[in-house]
Amino acid sequence: MRILVLGAGFGGLELTTRLSDVLGDDVDILLIDKADGFVFGFSKLDVMFGRTTPQAVRHSFRDLVKPGVRFVQAEIRSIDPVRRRAETDAGPFEADVLVVALGADLDPSATPGLVEAGREFYTVDGAFATRDVLDSFGGGRVIVGVTSTPFKCPPAPSETALMMHDYLVQRGLRDVSEISLVMPLGSPIPPSPAASEALLAAFAERGISWHPDRLVRSLDPRRRVAELADGTEMPFDLFLGVPRHHVPAVVAESGMCVDGWIPVNPLTLETAYPDVYAVGDVTSVGTPKAGVFSERQAAVVADELIARYGQSGAAPTYDGKGICYIEFGHDRVARVEVTFRTGERPSGQFDEPSGLLLADKAEFGTSRIRRWFGRDWASY
Ligand SMILES: Cc1cc2nc3c(=O)[nH]c(=O)nc-3n(C[C@H](O)[C@H](O)[C@H](O)COP(=O)(O)OP(=O)(O)OC[C@H]3O[C@@H](n4cnc5c(N)ncnc54)[C@H](O)[C@@H]3O)c2cc1C
Repeated sequence: MRILVLGAGFGGLELTTRLSDVLGDDVDILLIDKADGFVFGFSKLDVMFGRTTPQAVRHSFRDLVKPGVRFVQAEIRSIDPVRRRAETDAGPFEADVLVVALGADLDPSATPGLVEAGREFYTVDGAFATRDVLDSFGGGRVIVGVTSTPFKCPPAPSETALMMHDYLVQRGLRDVSEISLVMPLGSPIPPSPAASEALLAAFAERGISWHPDRLVRSLDPRRRVAELADGTEMPFDLFLGVPRHHVPAVVAESGMCVDGWIPVNPLTLETAYPDVYAVGDVTSVGTPKAGVFSERQAAVVADELIARYGQSGAAPTYDGKGICYIEFGHDRVARVEVTFRTGERPSGQFDEPSGLLLADKAEFGTSRIRRWFGRDWASY
């Protein structure tokens, strides 16, 4: 069986690891990504706030060696879901099974004024560059603002506001600064009222002002104000923005999308095309866009392919579950376990912030690096 996996992020890495672990050299997997390495989303915040360095969080694909898996670093230029074929700048590739795991791209230029007057911190480059901006920030009005929906990792803007508080305290700038959080959600984590309550209490305790149900439409670089969708304006000295998300252009051009994302069977992750699957942020499967969901979806597809290969019984279907760790600052992390199932109200179980969960989160990262790359993440 030849399997072509497009994208070596959370979904692509989990899929290839699981297939390789069970099928080894019996399977012919080609994994393609344009990047030279993988960076966890949460590592972007760690670098941005000076907790670690860019080198320590980039996991190179160079020595990605697994039985049955070949990695090719190349830009994918077109996808033909009918022929299960991709054209890349390293040549064309086709397979018996195609899995699209290309994630969501970000478009800061879609928000007028964001590139000129603000900073986006959702891309790897944007977050790493914001570190220097923070280093030279002398205090003032900080806005953490979301510009459109859907957006990756819904807790991340809340975490950013809390980490910003710690950062400013540490630099002796908190007394001369204000932090505001503008979010399109009615509560910080809608499926978990307990997590939302804890976050709202943490904002109140730290004097972070919370602006729910709102989106930032544009920034006026001259007046340095954020213009919100409801017509109000908020002045800022530093604007940290979550930019507009969309599928990579190559996915949009493939004809696979409906309303901007790839529709899939929510139980099996199959697309409308035979033997073509899609997992993670690139889909409209109905879960939030986060690595833990991409990973679990990839596991379902891997198990289905393993079952087809005769190495196991029927594969379980996707259950919409995911565990998110939430940085509360003060060296404490909380955990929320959420479930998103089609036709059911999303639900969540919350574990209070603690030092123990900080260690749990570190293990979440290091265990993935061990499994996906076969080495330790020494510097976490
Ligand atoms: C600040 C921040 C914090 C976050 N924190 C968390 C967290 O704590 N927990 C969590 O679960 N999630 C978190 N996330 C979200 C998480 O990073 C993403 O949801 C997750 O990476 C999505 O996985 P994926 O496999 O769908 O796509 P990705 O991991 O984005 O992988 C897609 C891959 O496709 C490649 N690609 C795209 N286009 C092309 C092309 N044309 N040619 C070749 N390759 C291409 C990309 O290079 C990329 O490697 C966070 C995100 C941010 C921004």
